[in-house]
Amino acid sequence: MAKKKIVWELSEAIESTDHIEIKDQYELFIGGKFVPPTQKKYFDTVNPANEEKLARIAEANEEDITKAVKSARKAFNSWSKLSGAERGKYIFRIARMIQERAKEFAVIETLDGGKPIRESRDIDIPLAANHFFYYAGWADKLEYAFPNRKPHPIGVAGQIIPWNFPLLMAAWKIAPALACGNTVVLKPAETTPLTALKLAELIQESGLPEGVVNIVTGAGESGAALVNHKGVDKIAFTGSTEVGKLIQQSTAASNKKLTLELGGKAANIIFEDAAIDQAVEGIVNGIYFNQGHVCCAGSRLFVQESVFNQVLDKLKARMETLIVGNPLDKNTDVGAINSKGQLKTIESYIKSGVAEGAELHQSSAQLPKKGFWCKPTLFTEVSQSSKLVQEEIFGPVLAIQSFRTVSEAISKANNTPYGLSAGIWTDKGSKIFNMIMNMNAGVVWANTYNKFDPASPFGGFKESGYGREGGLHGLSAYLNF
Ligand code: NAP
Ligand code: MG
Repeated sequence: MAKKKIVWELSEAIESTDHIEIKDQYELFIGGKFVPPTQKKYFDTVNPANEEKLARIAEANEEDITKAVKSARKAFNSWSKLSGAERGKYIFRIARMIQERAKEFAVIETLDGGKPIRESRDIDIPLAANHFFYYAGWADKLEYAFPNRKPHPIGVAGQIIPWNFPLLMAAWKIAPALACGNTVVLKPAETTPLTALKLAELIQESGLPEGVVNIVTGAGESGAALVNHKGVDKIAFTGSTEVGKLIQQSTAASNKKLTLELGGKAANIIFEDAAIDQAVEGIVNGIYFNQGHVCCAGSRLFVQESVFNQVLDKLKARMETLIVGNPLDKNTDVGAINSKGQLKTIESYIKSGVAEGAELHQSSAQLPKKGFWCKPTLFTEVSQSSKLVQEEIFGPVLAIQSFRTVSEAISKANNTPYGLSAGIWTDKGSKIFNMIMNMNAGVVWANTYNKFDPASPFGGFKESGYGREGGLHGLSAYLNF
């Protein structure tokens, strides 16, 4: 098929940054106050789209973590005794305040992490508010959620989150913990601390009792100090499988409860009877959404042989239309890679794919000169054993393979150490049910992809971790019975 070049003549539509306030320096949020770190050490957070420094961020050491855990413990005594209805009011207030400042949160999320404003505005921030609304509603109904059982809070939760959905991951962690009567110490990721710190300001204004939520910034060492702290009763971790395994080891000999939301390598499977144009949109959303920095990204594509060439042609044509560039531009589809380190990782996978003999295709998008960028990328001619197929790249890189029969699709899709999510595209309901029953994946989407709702549980099998966030399941992770 002749390659048709589609050119979109769109004028820039840059989101304004006038209404937002980013301080030069942020301290630790402990006991309802912003306090400087003991060692007076700070690190910079930058905008990955232009490499400019946004703010200096406090780095917490073990002593700071101890302060935060103590303040959470002290707050637990009264917070856990408040009625569920009272707790619910505070959580509702936080939800409403996030909604009121949604635009500010969206712009800061985009500046700090590089994701397109369209995504932070339409997905990250509204979903974060929805999580608080949803769990606020459960706070006074825990006994109905778990009939004939006596749910009670666990205590102090140490929560560690990654950089791909910073405010949303904070909401996934904080909202159910508070609804169940726990108090928390949360550590955001080093490269994207700003929206969590804005949330700390909002929480301070909301009047939430001091110490119920503590937010401590820092790198991996601060996270490890939180994990190893004796005063913590539960660890909730979202991040890489590698760090998840370390955390599992270091909590093994303790009484700490643990939930792990780890990596993924999802299969997106297209059958010949699927609505192909819709499926192509689903593939694009599955892998290029948030630059592929998505644990449940559809990073492996399996296409039934009879429609393989058709899907590939349409996919390549659609990739050409993706607008890569300034994340603040409302037209942008693909923003900046979150950090220099992550860009290097992605580039090394692309190189290894080429060296293995896989066939590389990238969109012809012009990349900005400054900042960290990667073109939407796909590989064909990949083997099952290829690193591109087996390992989580966490970037906009898709590995495409074909299949002939349903059983071949099932065995190829499940041939991975991960088990977080999968996508099925077909016209037949019976095929959907058959595939859902056979996928070793915590979430399976059918004829859609990357759909999230606070009421539905999310989590993985195998090396994607254990425990669920969202829905009733998400409540039980923060309760003893
Ligand atoms: P990561 O390197 O594991 O980091 C996650 C968090 O843990 C960060 O806050 C990090 O701090 C901290 N950390 C690093 N080393 C630690 C240690 N030894 N002990 C305690 N904490 C430590 O993962 P990432 O690169 O930020 O995030 C990407 C990963 O998250 C991917 O694998 C993705 O699949 C996964 N993820 C999973 C889900 C899910 O729900 N299953 C959702 C989103 C993301 P620093 O930022 O300072 O390194
Ligand atoms: Mg940053």
